[in-house]
Amino acid sequence: MSFDLIILGPPGSGKGTQAQRIVARHGVVQVSTGDMLRDHKKRGTPLGIEAATYFDRGQLAPDDLVIRMIEERLKLSDVAPGVLFDGFPRTVPQAAALDALLARLGRTMRCAVEIRVPDAAIVERLSGRRVCPGCGAPYHVANMPPKKDGVCDKCGTALLARDDDRAETVLERLKVYHAQTAPVAAHYAAAGKLRQVEGAGDPDAVFARIDEEIGRAS
Ligand code: AMP
Repeated sequence: MSFDLIILGPPGSGKGTQAQRIVARHGVVQVSTGDMLRDHKKRGTPLGIEAATYFDRGQLAPDDLVIRMIEERLKLSDVAPGVLFDGFPRTVPQAAALDALLARLGRTMRCAVEIRVPDAAIVERLSGRRVCPGCGAPYHVANMPPKKDGVCDKCGTALLARDDDRAETVLERLKVYHAQTAPVAAHYAAAGKLRQVEGAGDPDAVFARIDEEIGRAS
């Protein structure tokens, strides 16, 4: 049986960092719609060009575009052991579409883990966030610095700040999160699948809490 999980949380809640740990611990495949859209944008595909208009303003891409992308992704054979959905679902219609898709494919959702972080902490976190354009590893200038300034520990590529981590885009993304994504948590709570975890503190402590909740849901 597949071991499918969802990780929920506002931008800057540490989702990406925790997702990497969940993948390493449970052998699931991370499916991040944000990473997929960034990749389409970089390659200049029609989907990437369409998504970029929303992306660059911190707004959500249309549900049908994202759902189609997920449907295609779940056709690949590497998802057999399980998927960690990261950045998806972002809206209640996306969550409903995922429920239907998983049922059709005979897959089971274990739980949705929500990382909770107050808004005030988010802006500080995102302004220091850096990412490796080579392998996707996340860093933070103060909280999780690379060993060598500005360079990825894993692959040696120069680190970058994301375009959409600028302060005004962050505020828009937080607004969008509260309006559209917070109801997704309620959707999973109603199904008895929501596990909430405090996102404050160091990443190891947060991961320990997450793993305990995943263990309980198994
Ligand atoms: P992320 O890296 O998950 O913060 O996503 C970056 C941007 O990609 C978001 O601000 C949206 O414009 C878009 N995006 C990512 N995932 C979704 C989704 N599930 N639904 C709609 N838009 C998305």
